[in-house]
Order: sequence, then structure tokens, then C-alpha cells
Amino acid sequence: MLIVQKFGGTSVGSLERIQNVANRVSKTVKEGNSVVVVVSAMSGETNKLVGYAEHFSKNPSRAEMDMLLSSGERVTASLLSIALQEMGHNSVAMTGRKAGILTDKHHTKARIEDINPKHMQSNIEAGSIIVVAGFQGVNEQGDVTTLGRGGSDLSAVAIAGALKADLCEIYTDVSGIFTTDPRIEPKAKKLDKISYDEMLELASLGAKVLQNRSVEMAKKLNVNLVTRTSFSDEEGTLITTEENIMEKPLVSGIALDRNQARISLMGVKDRPGIASDIFNALAEAEVNVDMIIQNKAHDETTNIDFTVPVGDLNDAKSVVDTFVNSGEINADSYNEEICKVSVVGVGMKSHAGVAAKAFSTMAGENININMISTSEIKVSMVIDEKYAELAVKSLHNAYELDK
Ligand code: ADP
Ligand code: ASP
Ligand code: MG
Repeated sequence: MLIVQKFGGTSVGSLERIQNVANRVSKTVKEGNSVVVVVSAMSGETNKLVGYAEHFSKNPSRAEMDMLLSSGERVTASLLSIALQEMGHNSVAMTGRKAGILTDKHHTKARIEDINPKHMQSNIEAGSIIVVAGFQGVNEQGDVTTLGRGGSDLSAVAIAGALKADLCEIYTDVSGIFTTDPRIEPKAKKLDKISYDEMLELASLGAKVLQNRSVEMAKKLNVNLVTRTSFSDEEGTLITTEENIMEKPLVSGIALDRNQARISLMGVKDRPGIASDIFNALAEAEVNVDMIIQNKAHDETTNIDFTVPVGDLNDAKSVVDTFVNSGEINADSYNEEICKVSVVGVGMKSHAGVAAKAFSTMAGENININMISTSEIKVSMVIDEKYAELAVKSLHNAYELDK
């Protein structure tokens, strides 16, 4: 079999742990498999580098950030390859460029456009283990780009797709996908299987166990994706098509996203095209807008509230300022002390009352809901951040996910 194994930051967080990863890869190879390894930077390393940059600038150039941040993964890739060579294996470490990962031009959140796997393929044919530095690629100009936080998951899935690997294993510090973050609710249960669509919702709504784009790509390329722990041989969770899952629970999980901010625009001129102007300008600035609420107009003005990831807040503020300066918006305010809690499950498609139960659970805890949005398989609520853990636990309990 050809297996892609991705090891996250905690799994390569120390020299002993890198040796532990080398032992696991070696075992997989000795069982007769070809292995392509994808590694993250050592845990905490990427944040440390971000901190270094912030020492010099509040708004560092994104291209320089990519030069800086991509270095963390090069360290672990080369160290792991050295460890494997020392164990007697043929092994070669590759940057994203050498692995043929081509991206668009959007520094710090680049999308993979194509993979040219010829270097990887010729090395696999020659019997070598390949260790790829995750989280990075190269744009048309040859500049290094990074794939957004958590992006090594995407590197692994994209490589598995390009090489038509039999399996893509994501090794992390928890033993699989749980009904909610087990660090918040220790009663959370590990799922044997979860559908791509539910996993995509959970990941997009804050469950950082898998980067959302990696799930999107796994679904598109039909990659056999498994999440498991690097600390034991415990079986993980298979992420697969809905048809492969016999038992469909009403609700599969609860997700929490603390990284959201709410922007309120007051006294917005109520004219045709104003929403289009504001949100197109935000899109152009690459701000990821999520929930939007517009109130009924009054005195020829209206209020618009929306949420964005905290990381996009500065860019969003600059856009809003231009509308305030031109007089189309009277006033604006920002609130970072919010979070988004979501209930996800494909079973909702055919059952009524799931949303109502989420609202009554919040009411039972006296938690005020600020914003709501729903789709076929999720209900999301924006609440004050101080209630985040209480909300997750009470929803987990209300849908009996610990049973
Ligand atoms: P890595 O460094 O290996 O990429 P991450 O920190 O990105 O690991 O993701 C693993 C973490 O995701 C876990 O430690 C856990 O706290 C968190 N997490 C959030 N939601 C879930 C969930 N539903 N199931 C499992 N883990 C979750
Ligand atoms: N090191 C990067 C991050 O911390 C990428 C990854 O670990 O997936 O976001
Ligand atoms: Mg991760």
C-alpha cells in the first residue's frame, strides 16, 4: 500500500517524539508499505515565529510571513529524515516546492492549484521514504506560500490525492474525532466514522482537529482519511462518504469557535446596492464574512451586523472606515468577546426540532443568543465568550452525546 502519514505539532514536539515518529514510519515501511510523511512544525513553533514578527510590526508583509513561517516545517522534515536515515532507511526531505505543490498567489492563506508529483514519484519508485514539509507550497513566481493555520492537514490530503495513495492518516494528540473537543468535555465520545460533510461543518465551525480545506479536498478527491493518535496504536476515526455510514445519529457533534469577532454597522444608508458595495469591498480585502444580520430600515437607515475571524478584523476595519468616511455608515463597533457554538448532524435533514432544542438548552442556562444561522445539517449560535464552555457542555448533554 501507499500510505501518507501526517504528524501534527505535538507529535513532533520534541526530539524524542520525532524519534517516536521515525519508529512508527519505519514499522509501516517494514510491513511492506511505501510511505510519504508530511510533518508540521514542532508545537508552539509557528506561534513563536508569529510573535517574533509582531515584535517588529503590527502588520507584517504577508510574503515575508510566509518565508518565516515555512521554516518551522523544514526543521522537522529534515530532522525526521535524518533520524530515518540513521535507522538504515533511504529517506529524502522535501520542501513544498520540491514536492511540486503549486498554489495561488494569496500569501498566508494560499490555495493549492496543482501538484506535480514527479519528484515524489521517482523517489518512491527508487524505494525511498519521502518526508515533506507541510503547510507550504510555491506560487507561479516561485515565492514560498503557506496554506493557512493547520495547513499541514491540507498538504497531506492533497499529496494523498495526487499520488492516489490508498490511505491518508492524520496523527495528532487525540485518538480521533470526538462528539466535541475532549479538552472541553471529557465525556465526549470518539466516533468510529463520520461523513465528509459533517466533518467539513465541524472543521469549518471551529473543530481544529482537521483543517476545513483538507476535509473539502478529501471529499473532492475521495481520499480515505483517518484521524488517530501518534501516542498509541488505538484505532482512529474514518472520515468517509455518507453511504458508508449505516447508523446516522441525529446530531454528530458540537463545535466551538472562539476566534470570531462581531462587527456592528449603525446608520447604514438604506439604498439598493449598499450591501453589495460593503460585502464586495470586504471580499476584495479577503475578509471571510460569516453570519450577517440586517435590521428593518428606520429613518432611511438600517443596521448591519456580521461576524469575521479575529485574524481578519484589521482588514475588515480598514474597509469599514472607508464607508464611515464617505458618510454611508454613521457608526461602527467591534466585539471580540464572542464565540460561535454549533450543533452538527446529517440527521437534522429529516428531523424537526433540533434547532428548537439548541435554543431551549441555551435558555435553560440563561445564555443570551446574539445571532443565529442554520443550514441543512447545522445550527450555529453566537453567544458571549464567557459562556463558551458551559454552552458546549450543556448542548452535549442535551443531545445525549455522551450515551
Ligand atoms: P495537530 O497539532 O496534531 O495538528 P491540532 O491541535 O491542530 O493538532 O488538533 C487537535 C486538537 O483538536 C485536539 O487536541 C482537540 O483539543 C481539538 N479538537 C477540537 N474539536 C475536536 C473534536 N471534535 N474531536 C477531536 N479533537 C478536537
Ligand atoms: N505549523 C502550522 C500551524 O501551526 C501548520 C500546521 O501545523 O498544520 O498552523
Ligand atoms: Mg492541526
